[in-house]
Amino acid sequence: MSQVPKVVVATANPHKLAEIRAILADAGLAVELVSMAEFDVPSPVEDRNTFEANALVKARACARATGLPAIADDSGLSVDALGGAPGVHSAYYAGTHGDDEANNAKLLEELAEVPDPQRTARFLCAAVAVGPSRAEVVLRGEMPGRIAHEARGTHGFGYDPLFIADDTGDDRTNGELSPEEKDAISHRGAAFRMLASHLPVVLLDHDRRR
Ligand code: IMP
Repeated sequence: MSQVPKVVVATANPHKLAEIRAILADAGLAVELVSMAEFDVPSPVEDRNTFEANALVKARACARATGLPAIADDSGLSVDALGGAPGVHSAYYAGTHGDDEANNAKLLEELAEVPDPQRTARFLCAAVAVGPSRAEVVLRGEMPGRIAHEARGTHGFGYDPLFIADDTGDDRTNGELSPEEKDAISHRGAAFRMLASHLPVVLLDHDRRR
C-alpha cells in the first residue's frame, strides 16, 4: 500500500505552515506536512549572510533530527539605495526581532532624502528542501517593487504597508492587497511553487534510504 510521504516544515509558526500547505496543495503535491514543533529539534542559529544559507541551516537541522525530508524558507527585503539592506537582517532592522513598526519607521527615515526613481527594492525568499541522505534543492523567489513614502493598508505583515509591488500595475502597497492577490505575485508564493515541482527529488532520496 502506498503511503503519503511525510515532510517536516522547519517552522514553529502555524501561519507559515498553513501558507506552505496551501501552496503545495494547490500545486497538486500529495505530502503530509508536519511542523518541527512536533519533534525535539534544537533551534538552529540563523546567522548566515544569505537567505539560502539560513534556510539550509534550518532544513538540515530538521532532517538530521527527524530522519524525514525537511523544507524551510528564509526571506527579507532588499533595498537598492541601501546596498541591499536590510536583507538577512530584515526581522530586526531597528534592533528588536519582529518589531515591524520600528523596522518600518527606520526604513522611512533611511530613505527620507531618496527620490522616487531610486526607491526600488525587492522581497526575496529562499525555499529549500533537504533529504535525510543529503539531497538538497534550493530555489529563490523575488517580488520587485519600490518603497512608498508612508505606510498604507492593514493586510500582510512586516514591510508590507511600505512596499508597492511592480506586478500590481498600480500604486497599492502590499498592505492594501488581499492575501490571494499577494500570494499570486509574492516572493514566497513563487519560491514554494517552484519547490513543489522539485520536491519529488528529495522524496526519492528519502525512499531510497528505507
Ligand atoms: P522570515 O523569513 O519569516 O524570518 O522573515 C524575515 C523578515 O523579512 C520578516 O520579519 C519581515 O520583516 C520581512 N519579510 C519577509 N517576507 C515578507 C513579506 O512577505 N512581507 C513583509 N515583510 C516580509
